[in-house]
Amino acid sequence: MPDWRSGRTGLLVDMDGVLFHGERALPGAADFLSWLLRRPHRFVTNNPIRSPAEVVAHFRALGLPEPDVGAIITTAQATATWLADQQPGFRYFAIGAGDLHAALSAVGREDAAHADFVVVGEGPGLDYESLSIAINLVLKQGARLVSTNPDANVDAMVDGVHRVLPGGGALVAAVAVATGVQPTVIGKPNPLLFRLALASLGLQPGQCIMVGDRPDTDIAGALALGMRTALVRTGRFGVADALPESVHPDWDVADLAALIAAWKVSTDRPS
Ligand SMILES: [Mg+2]
Repeated sequence: MPDWRSGRTGLLVDMDGVLFHGERALPGAADFLSWLLRRPHRFVTNNPIRSPAEVVAHFRALGLPEPDVGAIITTAQATATWLADQQPGFRYFAIGAGDLHAALSAVGREDAAHADFVVVGEGPGLDYESLSIAINLVLKQGARLVSTNPDANVDAMVDGVHRVLPGGGALVAAVAVATGVQPTVIGKPNPLLFRLALASLGLQPGQCIMVGDRPDTDIAGALALGMRTALVRTGRFGVADALPESVHPDWDVADLAALIAAWKVSTDRPS
């Protein structure tokens, strides 16, 4: 095998369940980051709620080495970029919380009466009124339905207590059922988020490794594009869980500390 560690191999890295769990950094995260941040890299997350700046602040709060804000690609950012590419100056109606609205308004124009796209993200925002507006835009005006991410549900810490919250896939399902229209989905395992991250690095899939904690999204999506993959079993998928039959990561390890050991990379901090 060529020594990819000294070449221009890039890395795409998921964050939740890989680097940290809520307010807790995972084993090997600091050492892994000290190595990673000196190589071509992007952080890719299906979570459209936190802005890239907020994600960097989270690294800081956990005492982890901080990436550049431009290295963070959320599905809010990816959705906005994709829509601007589809239709410059697009009009949209968005349902969801957090950074989604800021990301869309930076490149498009909110217009609940004449939207070209109905965008469903995550977090609070879906209610009877917003659902009705979305349905009418899709059925009567031909607006295209877009979902930031397909997750059925997501883990969260609310006031120090673990809660399972509805994911983007659950929220957009209401619009899909009411209209009979399936959404275009940006996040993993679909290729659009990966492709955007690869394009921003100027690399082809074969030149990149995806590091993630979910076989069904991080690993399956990256494999489908022809990337190499590393599974860390620090997320929902534990050391005792059996892989889906079609998913074969190139590296399958307990945590980032084990991945560093398997890759034999130097984690010396830059002086
Ligand atoms: Mg994850």
